[in-house]
Amino acid sequence: MTFLRLSGVRKSFGPLEVLRGVDLDVGQGEVVCLIGPSGSGKSTLLRCVNHLETLDGGEIRLEDELIGYTRKGDTYYPLSDRAAARQRRRFGMVFQGFHLFPHLTVLENVVEAPTRVLRRSRGECAEQAHELLASVGLAEKHAAYPRELSGGQQQRVAIARALAMEPDVMLFDEPTSALDPELVGEVLGVMRRLAQRTMTMIVVTHEIGFARQVSDRVAVMDGGTIVELGTPAEVLGAPKHRTTQAFVRSLG
Ligand code: ADP
Ligand code: MG
Repeated sequence: MTFLRLSGVRKSFGPLEVLRGVDLDVGQGEVVCLIGPSGSGKSTLLRCVNHLETLDGGEIRLEDELIGYTRKGDTYYPLSDRAAARQRRRFGMVFQGFHLFPHLTVLENVVEAPTRVLRRSRGECAEQAHELLASVGLAEKHAAYPRELSGGQQQRVAIARALAMEPDVMLFDEPTSALDPELVGEVLGVMRRLAQRTMTMIVVTHEIGFARQVSDRVAVMDGGTIVELGTPAEVLGAPKHRTTQAFVRSLG
């Protein structure tokens, strides 16, 4: 059974067709890098996966469970807010901007969601948060405030915070695009270790080295569809589609 399955996913904003039928299967523990030009629909696709957007067609399933809807016959009905929130917790999302709570310490940022949403005890969550902070190399920063951290450190806290909810899938949307070049490596290093620990991940990125070394497969989007999909060696080493060829060429 495929772990995460996107079938014929369609999404429009008014007259603008942004996703035109996207099919993608992601196995458990697999890392898929999603590349493609700006405006091709990458962010929208991630937002559809954890149902931050409603779909106009197709479906998304995680372990065969329909995401965002229930289905009776050929008709789809939206989930209740409560059921949608429960599903959304299976996905961790990390964005280009870090979106930490500025008035909370690093530890409190990581502890906030599991205590409030999962109603777990503060002590238990704090213990887990210390472990997660250690795993992203920030054990000693637990009492700092976000403004006292570099962008790379803030992004590592954002990753720890997402992991605190124990998601089944991590979605990354250009997690290093806002960082100074010298800080990119530390964030990619954390993501690489996460991949090695068999997290299922979809990563939108321009970091070709990461895509080459860490991803199991690379998907190339253009104009709202996946135009090329394969191993990094296939897609980046011998690109077939002109979009991929242009992308690889642009990286020198
Ligand atoms: P990418 O992440 O590949 O750059 P996006 O998924 O962000 O692409 O955007 C794809 C297209 O959808 C763009 O033309 C963008 O302007 C449009 N778009 C994205 N979100 C919205 C929205 N909420 N309302 C209207 N248009 C949107
Ligand atoms: Mg985007």
